[in-house]
Amino acid sequence: MQSFVLEGKLLLGREFELSEGSVVIKNGVIDEIVQAQSERPALILPSLFNAHTHVADGVLKDPPHSTLDELVKPPDGLKHRILRETPREQKVEHMRLAAIQMLASGCTGFADFREEGVDGIAQLDQSLRGLAIKAVKLGRPDGDDVDELLDVCDGLGVSGCRDYRAEVLSEWAAACKSARAMLCIHAGEENDRDIKPALELEPDVLVHMVHASTSELKRCAHERISIAVCPRSNMLTGVGLPNIRKMLELGVNVACGTDNVMLASCNPFDEMHALSWSWDWMKGTCSPCSHGGRERLMGYLVGWSRKGSLPIWRCSTFPPRT
Ligand SMILES: [Zn+2]
Repeated sequence: MQSFVLEGKLLLGREFELSEGSVVIKNGVIDEIVQAQSERPALILPSLFNAHTHVADGVLKDPPHSTLDELVKPPDGLKHRILRETPREQKVEHMRLAAIQMLASGCTGFADFREEGVDGIAQLDQSLRGLAIKAVKLGRPDGDDVDELLDVCDGLGVSGCRDYRAEVLSEWAAACKSARAMLCIHAGEENDRDIKPALELEPDVLVHMVHASTSELKRCAHERISIAVCPRSNMLTGVGLPNIRKMLELGVNVACGTDNVMLASCNPFDEMHALSWSWDWMKGTCSPCSHGGRERLMGYLVGWSRKGSLPIWRCSTFPPRT
């Protein structure tokens, strides 16, 4: 029997109450939790889930200052040109480095918008070989047949409703529905114009929603559409900040992501640090240590699934195709 003990600060229960003690693990399963005083400087908590990444973007670290469209708009934004020009093996290596960084920061799952069609998904699969981390693979057609793409991934990760004709988006949404795959879309990042068309596609997850109105957020809560927020990315691209407090008050399932690896590290603790400042900035104070710590953490402890929330500790079975 394999057995080992983790000791330090513990976050326990559904509310992640801070305690101290040790966790006894036998054969890969938690056997016992002992609460007792501990001076060990370790934090023991359920593993984190990074709800929105673009891990291939690590090939373009620290891009030049440019507008959002110049940087990421398909098909010829800077990141897409660089991805086309970069050798396949180099992209695989950078994706693997991002996954290793996530593992080192306590992440065992992430949801990745993977461009470049069927081969983009194959690159991601190759990069994760032998690593104890699971990707929710959200592909993007790149001249491929959408059904063939959905055969090799968990759903689609659409750049935004301004980037494609409405008929194309409707076709993709229908394909996701019939394959019981997820539909995830960037929306409300730079302005509010792409939110309504995104909502009409009945997505599972919307990413950013910086410019969402109260009624749009209410609709997300009502229709069980999760929102993945990425405040560091939003700060770096200067688009504003999502009103996470209002999202939570309205009952939206909010998860946190680190977005493009070219802009920000994929370490969720870096994002939580930034989130602590944005959280307080939004309520008009400058103290980095007031409320919201639990909510910041919760953002990484919940994932999402088709139309509903999913505790992160179930991410090894993620996503359920029911
Ligand atoms: Zn993104």
